[in-house]
Amino acid sequence: MDCRTVQSYFSAYLDRELPPDQEDLVSRHLAACPACRREYQAWQHLWELLAAEPVKAPADLSARVLERLPGRVRPWWRHLALAASLLVGVFLGGQLGVELQQSFGPGQGEIVWEVFEEAPANSLGAMLASYDLENGNGL
Ligand SMILES: [Zn+2]
Repeated sequence: MDCRTVQSYFSAYLDRELPPDQEDLVSRHLAACPACRREYQAWQHLWELLAAEPVKAPADLSARVLERLPGRVRPWWRHLALAASLLVGVFLGGQLGVELQQSFGPGQGEIVWEVFEEAPANSLGAMLASYDLENGNGL
């Protein structure tokens, strides 16, 4: 193990996070290499200073960081929830269409559209009720 590799493990070595075989290699290198031993002692000193003076983040740090982010960041699971709700909506809509078609029988599709005539203005139901099957509505 060369000096550069050993020094890249110092943080993990100090935290006792290295696998036993690597930890052993670092220990043996430190015993044999004065330059790395000096560097390691500097790391140890820094670790002791950091442990003695824990730095606390201000309580409003996360709010201030979020304020400065461009646009609004949404967690990944919100995108997943949106996609899942769209899929459920499409599935339920399809099921509703099949149910209505079965209720009124084949060839009576016009009756299905009347279901939406009572829908509130500007709703999807109102759009469907006003849809011109022959010419379309410019949609
Ligand atoms: Zn070395």
